[in-house]
Amino acid sequence: MDIILYVIIFLIGIFFGSFYTLAVYRIPKGEDITHTHSYCPNCKHKLGILDLIPVFSYIFLGGKCRYCKQKIRPRYFILEILSGIFFVTVFYIMGINYENLNLNAILNFGFFVLYFTFIVLFAGIDSEYRKINKPVLMYGVIISLIYIVYLCIIDFASIYRYGIYLFLFIILLLIDTIYIKKKAIDSYPIDILISIIIMLVFTSKYIVINSIITTLIAIAIYLLIEKLKNIKSKRKKTKKEANYEISIGLYLSITNILFYVLLFAMCEF
Ligand SMILES: [Zn+2]
Repeated sequence: MDIILYVIIFLIGIFFGSFYTLAVYRIPKGEDITHTHSYCPNCKHKLGILDLIPVFSYIFLGGKCRYCKQKIRPRYFILEILSGIFFVTVFYIMGINYENLNLNAILNFGFFVLYFTFIVLFAGIDSEYRKINKPVLMYGVIISLIYIVYLCIIDFASIYRYGIYLFLFIILLLIDTIYIKKKAIDSYPIDILISIIIMLVFTSKYIVINSIITTLIAIAIYLLIEKLKNIKSKRKKTKKEANYEISIGLYLSITNILFYVLLFAMCEF
């Protein structure tokens, strides 16, 4: 019976994967993520429902556009498959199976999916634009608040800890909206701090500390390599390179998810 459960989770995973690729592409452009029609980038033909089924459309159409036979890049197909595999992996390491499948288990997995959706959109947009998308950040804050309420209902012991997170959310959001708008400063550092609080709500503080340390090491290595490259070649730097604009959110997200899975897997086995 478990195999059916895994197949369902895999299918949910590839649908979310499909949504992620679409959302990371559309949200920064301010495009609608639910209503605007998708179209073939080559022949501009509107895609029907049969062309848009994640993974399966790609397989049945042989990786080509139904209308102009142009090859479709396998990038999205691969990302959707990876998303499916990742969902199954998390479901597995959470130890959910057909026997213990109850409301609590479903809610736990559901909250993970909500959190993972935040992480993917947050990291995806940061890596493309080196910018934290405000609506995505707000989504992260809102699901954090819902999760805190849920946790307080099932476990009152940690209400103090979540009180601190709530307090930090309010302070940072106030700085973000009032102070930074007034002075027109780059809100990137504050947005990163807000995202760290979201990570603290959904994963443990050990995971977050580990991902911050790993991120700092990764950035230090990156800057060192850049320095060495600059010494070797005297070429002009682009504006982005000159300011050392690093997508910190991307590093934090990757390490956060890696440590999350790793810790879960270690507790399980
Ligand atoms: Zn086409």
